[in-house]
Amino acid sequence: MASQEIEALSGALARLPGLGPRSARRAVLWLIKRRETALPQLLAALTQVQDLLVECDTCGNVDTTNPCGICTDPRRDQRSICVVEEVADLWALDRARLFTGKYHVLGGRLSALEGVRPEDLTIGQLLDRVAQGGIDEVVLAMNATLEGQTTAHYIAERLEGATVRVTQLAHGLPVGGELDYLDEGTLAQALRARRPVT
Ligand SMILES: [Zn+2]
Repeated sequence: MASQEIEALSGALARLPGLGPRSARRAVLWLIKRRETALPQLLAALTQVQDLLVECDTCGNVDTTNPCGICTDPRRDQRSICVVEEVADLWALDRARLFTGKYHVLGGRLSALEGVRPEDLTIGQLLDRVAQGGIDEVVLAMNATLEGQTTAHYIAERLEGATVRVTQLAHGLPVGGELDYLDEGTLAQALRARRPVT
């Protein structure tokens, strides 16, 4: 019988993406064994995340400033916006230093199954950013999943009539592929070979 404290922490960890109850319990035991070393580090890191990190009102990135470092970086191309589903996708593209413009994080993808509608994502804010002018290109960098592509088509339709070039990643990637899992070479290729949305 595990103590109430262990159950509480295991339960909290098990809600994290990719962690089930079994791996959560293993993580808790691992931490208990390292209560002098790894546990304080984890506590400090969690506190810092809680205290310092905020969501950027402009693009949806997570950073210590709002607007974020990418939005305020004058060396970046102000005239192109790369639209991604999640912050993790932004980080994947940016880690690879592939895209020099700005980003827009949707906060998910359209999904009939999960009941995610356009108004649940930041599509309205994206249209506002484009409507403000000064944007030449919108790169749709959705995942190569059915829902990702549905989302890309929906946004492309909403941008019809706006004076921007709308392009899409050339998915030389496996169908169902998620950006976050791609190696940098594949990502670079997909970005270089981006094509107009038809
Ligand atoms: Zn930002």
